[in-house]
Amino acid sequence: MSRGFDVVIERDSEGYYIASVPALPGCHTQARSLDELSARIKKAIELYLEVVGKRSYDDESELTAYIWKNHEHLMTDFERRVGRAVHARQKAEAVEGEAMKRMLSTRWGLVGDPEVDSALSAGPEPFRRSVAKRILLEYGDSIVNRCLQCGRVVRTPRARQCFWCGHDWHNQP
Ligand SMILES: [Zn+2]
Repeated sequence: MSRGFDVVIERDSEGYYIASVPALPGCHTQARSLDELSARIKKAIELYLEVVGKRSYDDESELTAYIWKNHEHLMTDFERRVGRAVHARQKAEAVEGEAMKRMLSTRWGLVGDPEVDSALSAGPEPFRRSVAKRILLEYGDSIVNRCLQCGRVVRTPRARQCFWCGHDWHNQP
């Protein structure tokens, strides 16, 4: 596959070059020299596409992830609170150690809080989806960055390139 992706290169205070790809959130690398950086970011893009590109596209789950990642400021305090609880509960499942598990699930995961438990009674994903749906109804689809060619949800608000089809709209106003 030979899709070109834009790479943003920055230099940190210690002199390292840092490369990231706006169309592929989480895809970044660093190096001492630009040559090394270029080799590494190519590898990182390949890996990213290999792992993430295998998933099939599902509009509702992409929208849900997009809203939770980029538009938390449009949520109510309660929705944000439940969202944080979901993260903590997921972390609690992943950590070792009973004390840590308990702290994450009760203190941060709010297990036992009747309002939060009831919001999550059907599981975290239905809750996240219903919040995303409400926000889209209220604010409209214009808060979502969609590809002008294939109409799929682009990963981040500032990306001007589609992760799914490779379409690039940098040169459009
Ligand atoms: Zn596209």
